[in-house]
Amino acid sequence: MEKSINLRIDHQCPQCGAPATLDETDRLFQCAFCKVKSYLMQRGYFRYLLPHNAATGREMVYFPYWRFKGMIFSCLASGIENRFLDLSQQAVQSPLFPSSVGLRSQAMKLRFVSPETKGWFIRPTLPFQGVMETFLERVNRRMPRPILHQSHIGESLSLIYAPFTVGRRIMDGVLNQPVSKELDETFQISQYAGGPADWRIEFIPTLCPNCGWDLQGRRDALVLSCKHCESMWKASKNGLSRVNVAHLPAASRADTLYLPFWRIKADVSGLELASYADLIRLANLPKVVQPEWNQAPWHFWGPAFKVRPRSFLRLTHQTTLSQPRESLVAAAPPGAMHPVNLPLSESVETLKLNLAGFIRPQKRVETCIPGVQIQPRRYLLVYLPFEVRHHDLVQPSLNIAVNRAQLALAENL
Ligand SMILES: [Zn+2]
Ligand SMILES: [Zn+2]
Repeated sequence: MEKSINLRIDHQCPQCGAPATLDETDRLFQCAFCKVKSYLMQRGYFRYLLPHNAATGREMVYFPYWRFKGMIFSCLASGIENRFLDLSQQAVQSPLFPSSVGLRSQAMKLRFVSPETKGWFIRPTLPFQGVMETFLERVNRRMPRPILHQSHIGESLSLIYAPFTVGRRIMDGVLNQPVSKELDETFQISQYAGGPADWRIEFIPTLCPNCGWDLQGRRDALVLSCKHCESMWKASKNGLSRVNVAHLPAASRADTLYLPFWRIKADVSGLELASYADLIRLANLPKVVQPEWNQAPWHFWGPAFKVRPRSFLRLTHQTTLSQPRESLVAAAPPGAMHPVNLPLSESVETLKLNLAGFIRPQKRVETCIPGVQIQPRRYLLVYLPFEVRHHDLVQPSLNIAVNRAQLALAENL
């Protein structure tokens, strides 16, 4: 397991200008001074820069790096392997600049790129997808073949600009050290396409679009709730959009925490998997198929919160195979809720992996998985009640447990 680092960002309150430090996972920002809440909109990816230490008046050049932080799951003939990755790599191919941001982004506070930042921002020319392939090649070097399927569940994809100055050599603008050999006399930094910074972080107010009440959520919450009209909201292209939500009522009066799960309805082709009965047969579950199950729908399930990769997989399979279908209530739960901090889009990325993990016998995976196509259709955010015990959260009717300490640690992932 590699160490996972949450980047820290120096920031100013968009209302009153007071300084604040954000974690990269923060979405809901409440200013400590004016108390105004705002929500950070993530369109595509966030763009950060490392502040420079160069002498004042120097013309700064900002070089872009893609950064990926997340989990890689590899489906092999022997089972599913997982890795946690936190990597950066040049977003423009260049022998003159360092190949990655290195450790500096972890040791220093970053800032959001803004049009007020002076300097030449080199435009990324390598698409992230290509860089991801390079990351995967590195991961896959030591992996046994064949690799049947791979999914990367990235909680963070961002662009980090590192500062440099250009003289006889390219100088690192943080360490003030040369990073290149002597440059040709004809060298011009404008050989790299770019221009002034043209991006700004966007904020929206956290008011319920339905009733105007103040929305609630933890600082890393991707879904905000309105306690007044009991609706839930997530950021989308056009601001906040309503989330379809349901919960399974708690069976006991024990201290309860509701954990969020994405339930996804999808069409699967290349495999007989249309009904609940098909699911039981494919996973070889010890259940007697009831005739009506041949018509009953089934859904993919997976955590809507961050946990370590191994627990993530286990929870994905346990919930999908137990298909909690009984008496869901089409409303947010009445008690304490764990925040949604894994987006639906990332859960969608796991569907094939989910399937690969429960096909039995295991050796069928190798022949089945390469031909399978999965088309997601509908989603529902479902909160399942877990009893809060000393070390674990326990869902007694589905027989699922989550370690509490692990859930707390996962906030950094
Ligand atoms: Zn403020
Ligand atoms: Zn409301």
